[in-house]
Amino acid sequence: MIPRYLVDFQLADLPRIEKDVIIVGAGIAGLFTAIKAAETSKVIMITKKSMLDSNTRHAQGGIAAVISDEDSFAFHRQDTLIAGAGLCTPEAVDALVQEGPDGVRDLIAMGTQFDIENGAYALTKEGAHSHRRILHANGDATGAEIVRALSEKAAAHPNIEIWNDHFVIDLITANNECFGALVQKSDGHRVFVSGKATVLCTGGAGQLFRYTTNPDVATGDGVAIAYRAGAYVRDMEFIQFHPTSLCYPGAPRFLISEAVRGEGAVLRNMKGERFMSQYHPQLELAPRDVVARAIVSEMEQTKSTFVYLDITHEPAELIKHRFPTIYEYCLSYGLDMTTDWIPVAPAAHYMMGGVKTGLQGETSVGRLFACGEVSSTGVHGANRLASNSLSEAIVFGRRIVEAIEQLSSPVIPEDIGCDRHRTNSSNTAVVERRLKLQKIMLRHAGLRRSMTGLTKGYEELQRQLPVLDTHLSKREEYEFANLLVCALLTTQAAMERSESRGGHYREDFPERDDLVWRKHMDWHRETGMVEESIDGIGV
Ligand SMILES: Cc1cc2nc3c(=O)[nH]c(=O)nc-3n(C[C@H](O)[C@H](O)[C@H](O)COP(=O)(O)OP(=O)(O)OC[C@H]3O[C@@H](n4cnc5c(N)ncnc54)[C@H](O)[C@@H]3O)c2cc1C
Repeated sequence: MIPRYLVDFQLADLPRIEKDVIIVGAGIAGLFTAIKAAETSKVIMITKKSMLDSNTRHAQGGIAAVISDEDSFAFHRQDTLIAGAGLCTPEAVDALVQEGPDGVRDLIAMGTQFDIENGAYALTKEGAHSHRRILHANGDATGAEIVRALSEKAAAHPNIEIWNDHFVIDLITANNECFGALVQKSDGHRVFVSGKATVLCTGGAGQLFRYTTNPDVATGDGVAIAYRAGAYVRDMEFIQFHPTSLCYPGAPRFLISEAVRGEGAVLRNMKGERFMSQYHPQLELAPRDVVARAIVSEMEQTKSTFVYLDITHEPAELIKHRFPTIYEYCLSYGLDMTTDWIPVAPAAHYMMGGVKTGLQGETSVGRLFACGEVSSTGVHGANRLASNSLSEAIVFGRRIVEAIEQLSSPVIPEDIGCDRHRTNSSNTAVVERRLKLQKIMLRHAGLRRSMTGLTKGYEELQRQLPVLDTHLSKREEYEFANLLVCALLTTQAAMERSESRGGHYREDFPERDDLVWRKHMDWHRETGMVEESIDGIGV
């Protein structure tokens, strides 16, 4: 079994800092929830690097909300349910679509400047959206603008204390109630931060895979921390791979937004041939998982590690105006999108599952909430509709703050602690371990899965488990431990789900099976897996 705590401690011996609300993470979920909560509470926001290190800052396309008169809640709801492939929670989707516009107004009031065209907010359309409803900022730099505005607001707020470069190791719990977090400060000392509510806003787990669009910080910490604390974790088999990330020697897997294909870019294999007509009638704008698998097939057939994205037939000025960030980024590697085909390949992008929450963002552990990519609210089901994740964070952030206001101060037992037999750290460098895990996940639990591969991957991962019984003290070691927990949960869930649906594709079970599999799997550290059925008619 995964151990309850990663390190030994006695609560009574730790320095204690008391706040009302503890926010772990400073992406959109953390920043937004912190600013809202600070209207009535003393808040501490803890982030393991700086406020600039998050998935949020890399978001390009935009944020989905029903703003246009031609759009409606019913359309946004339907698009979200179709993308979710029968596993969305309808009430969560209703909350998202109906409260999204108010959340966007809050973002604007907090200083976010979305792009304006002809006196109105510019709205674009992305794959699988039936109407124009994506607000964006500075063309393709929406996340950076949101982080700029919200981090300025949070930094200036008298009720918000910000701890950068601090690592939340575990949650302090007793009797299924959370009293705060065990935090390692930047100088290595550990403290107990207590509060009446703790909100995990720790983002996703793209670093599970060798190739990802996510930055280094996306190591699934919140999922592993919550799982160790006894919260239910759900839908971990559903990972969205983005079809088009830059694949160029020396360059990170920078995202080339779907909007580029939306503006007319086509995919070509190594021979220069367009190929999507062999895979889907919607060609390059087919669902993301279909495009990603088609690209991998072409890469295999042509014995290449990439395919090309070609937008050279569009006017150069349009490309530069619409995609300034992507254009400049590619140019920094000597690739001019207006004249060159861009080498691209799929990469892990978004975690649909996470810590299971109810409609107020509450987890199955008292006083513990989860918001943003770390949570499984039921909005995304088996696959996320593009640009719904930023909206989800603000809608559920608002709801969490309302729920926290109802909480009284906790009585914290003094006798909480952990004292396990631990061996010394292993000799294998943590960097090597992380790389090995990422390769296992890519090979066996990636875009195309099978029972044979998953079983092999699971066995290889299990061989790493003794690491959890060693003395851990560095951020990278905690991150590896958390990645390992997430990797095991992902492979286990993927082995169980003997069908293909949304972000989970099994070569040995290529069809969707609604008779058996229209349900979630909820995972608990002590009690194992329970199945959660879904009411109502699926889409
Ligand atoms: C390249 C890219 C493009 C995207 N484009 C879009 C888009 O256009 N529209 C859209 O809706 N979505 C998009 N997404 C997805 C979206 O950006 C994320 O889902 C969303 O930003 C997640 O926000 P978050 O606040 O939940 O997490 P994050 O923004 O990832 O923030 C996580 C925070 O938690 C902190 N943290 C984590 N673990 C710990 C720990 N143990 N201790 C302390 N701090 C910790 C991190 O330091 C960080 O501050 C994109 C994602 C990527 C990677």
